[in-house]
Amino acid sequence: MNCEEVSRRLSAYLDGELPPAEAEQVERHLRDCPACGREYAELRQAAELLAGLPQETPPPAIAQGLRRRLRQRVALLFVGLAVVLLMILPAASVLGLALRADLPLWARFGFLLSGVCFAGALLIWCCQLLRRLQSLVAYGFLAGERTS
Ligand SMILES: [Zn+2]
Repeated sequence: MNCEEVSRRLSAYLDGELPPAEAEQVERHLRDCPACGREYAELRQAAELLAGLPQETPPPAIAQGLRRRLRQRVALLFVGLAVVLLMILPAASVLGLALRADLPLWARFGFLLSGVCFAGALLIWCCQLLRRLQSLVAYGFLAGERTS
């Protein structure tokens, strides 16, 4: 393992997150390379300093404000999901027009293209909403952890 590879793994090594074989390689390199050894010592010192800092709890007003904003965002998210669900029907009916045999081919193709674009936009929007929901859930758990 070279210096660059060791440098990329130092943080994981310090946290004990490396597989045993890799950790052994890093350890061996650290013994033989003074530059990487210094880098590791500095990293460990910084981690110890951070661990020694007192854990602050936010004032109640800030925690309340955060919870209120969290509730507002959850409500907006559900409104967004409801809108997506409502828009599925028009997207499906536009796609359904593409299947009508009595319409000219160019019109059916146009409806198909519009329906696919509409459905794609809904899918992208839905994915964004779900990603936001995921981060809100993570944030909600963190906020609950700190205030309880
Ligand atoms: Zn090195």
